[in-house]
Amino acid sequence: MRSILLNPGPVSLSDKVRKATVSTDLCHREPDFFTLQDRLRSKLVDVYHCDPLVWTAVLLGGSGTMAVEAMLSSLLPHDACLLVLENGVYGERISRIAAIHGIEYQAAPHQWMDAIDFDRLSRQMENGTFSHLAAVHHETTTGRLNDVSRLAALCEEHGVGLLLDSVSSFGAEAVPFDFPALLACAATANKCLHGIPGLSFVVSRRSAIEKAVEPPRSLYLHLPLWADQQDRGSTPFTPPVNGLLALNQALTELQEQGGWSARHARYHHLADRVERALARYGVEAMLEPGESSCVLRSYRLPQDSGYAEIHDGLKQRGFVIYAGQGKLASEMFRISTMGDITDYDMERLLAALTAVFDESAAL
Ligand SMILES: *Cc1c(COP(=O)(O)O)cnc(C)c1O
Repeated sequence: MRSILLNPGPVSLSDKVRKATVSTDLCHREPDFFTLQDRLRSKLVDVYHCDPLVWTAVLLGGSGTMAVEAMLSSLLPHDACLLVLENGVYGERISRIAAIHGIEYQAAPHQWMDAIDFDRLSRQMENGTFSHLAAVHHETTTGRLNDVSRLAALCEEHGVGLLLDSVSSFGAEAVPFDFPALLACAATANKCLHGIPGLSFVVSRRSAIEKAVEPPRSLYLHLPLWADQQDRGSTPFTPPVNGLLALNQALTELQEQGGWSARHARYHHLADRVERALARYGVEAMLEPGESSCVLRSYRLPQDSGYAEIHDGLKQRGFVIYAGQGKLASEMFRISTMGDITDYDMERLLAALTAVFDESAAL
C-alpha cells in the first residue's frame, strides 16, 4: 500500500513522476541536460502565463528556504530597507535571513493566527523609509492565505518592490504577477508542483536580476550567477539532475490536468471533504471559512484525543498528517491535500478518519 503524504511537502508523487526521477543518468555538461533545463525554465514561466521577455525562472539546487534566501540576498541592494510581514514561522524566517545577511529591515509582527492588519501596515509604510516588502503568500504555519494582491497594490501606492515566499502556493493559488510592484517570488518543486525535494527556483522580473546586489552577499546564493549561466546554456554548479527530470514530468501533468486553476479547484474540493469529515467529530478548522489556502487547513485538536493518537492511527492506515508548529503544537494539527491524491485515496482517507475517531470515542 502506498503511503499518502498529507504534510505540506514533500508530496505523494504520481507513478510517472517517480519513474521519471530515475529514468536516465544525465551529465549536467551535456547538451541533453541543457535542453531539459531550458524546457523546464520556460514551463515554469508559463505556469502563470508570464511574458518570457519580462520574467525568467532561475533554477536552484536546494530546498524552498534556499530559493527564499537567494531571492532576498540577491535582489535587495546594499542600500535597501526591507519591511517584513510576519504572521507565522515562514515570515519570521524571512527576518532571520535579512538579519544574517546584514540587510536593514523592520518587522511587521502579527500573532500567528492573525490576518494582515492592513491599516497598521500602511501606516508603517507611510514615512517612506522602505524600499521593499517581503511576505509569505501562503503561511503554512496556519494555512492562512495572505492577501497578496492587496499587498501588491499597497506596495505600488508606496513605490515599494514586493518579494514573495510562494513556496507553498506556487502552482495552486493566484500569484499577483500582473502587479508591477511584484519583483520576484520564490518556490519549490516538491509542493504544489508535485516534483521531488532538492530543486527550488525563483521566478523574477529580468529587470530585478539586472539590478541585483553588487558585490554579491554570497557565492552560492547569488541569483545572477545562476541566471546568467542558465541563459548561456550552462550551470554554475552540479544541479539536482533527477529533480529536474521529475519536475519536467510533473509540469507536463499539471498542464494536462488543466493548469494551476484546475489544481486550485481540485485541492479545494479535497480540503472541503476532509473538513466535512472532521466536522462530524466536532473537529473544527482553526481559521474562518475562506481564510485558508486550498493547500492546507489547520484543525483544533479535540479535547479528548492528543495529536499522537490521531497521527499514529492514520499512519497505521497509510496516511501521514502534520503537527502544529512551535507554540501551536499543543493546540492544532494540519492536513494538506496537495500531491497526487486520487479519488480512491480520498475515499480511503475518509474511511481512515472515521475509524480513528470512532476508535478514540470508544476509549
Ligand atoms: C515549505 C516552506 C518553505 C521552505 O521549506 P524547505 O523545508 O526549505 O523546503 C518556505 N516557506 C513556506 C511558506 C513553506 O511552506
